[in-house]
Amino acid sequence: MSVRIRCDRCNEVATIQDSVEESAKFKTLYCTCNNPECGHSFVMHLTFSHTLSPSSLDFTAEMLEKLRRMNRQQQRELFASLA
Ligand SMILES: [Zn+2]
Repeated sequence: MSVRIRCDRCNEVATIQDSVEESAKFKTLYCTCNNPECGHSFVMHLTFSHTLSPSSLDFTAEMLEKLRRMNRQQQRELFASLA
């Protein structure tokens, strides 16, 4: 699914003309409204919010082994408590 940006003035779909990756968690999007009677151009920020399921890269081998022995429900409870 791609991100659909809407104009905050007229609610028409806007086109992302350019994007700048400020960091892995923060992008700046330069948008132009597709409604010719509006023509609003604006900047949106796309930011990382939070983790739902952590990256395997964040775990030691020992932690991964423990996680593997948990069922899905136990994993979900664990990560919910960390959030
Ligand atoms: Zn517009």
